[in-house]
Amino acid sequence: MSLLDALGGEPEAQTCSRAGCRARATWRIDWRNPRIHSEDRRKTWLACDEHVDFLREFLAARDFPLETSQLA
Ligand SMILES: [Zn+2]
Repeated sequence: MSLLDALGGEPEAQTCSRAGCRARATWRIDWRNPRIHSEDRRKTWLACDEHVDFLREFLAARDFPLETSQLA
């Protein structure tokens, strides 16, 4: 938690899941690895505009089922 979060009443910013990226996330990617996750398990990554394609293709290349939706 940053100092700003500790002091203010602002909701915690949702940041991109890409390593090293601190940008605000505008997309969410719900995905599952069929080899280790059961049918009803979902992992969620958050992505900024710049990295949503990177993260989606990373998962698609592994044949993981995924669903991309825009964050409200
Ligand atoms: Zn990003």
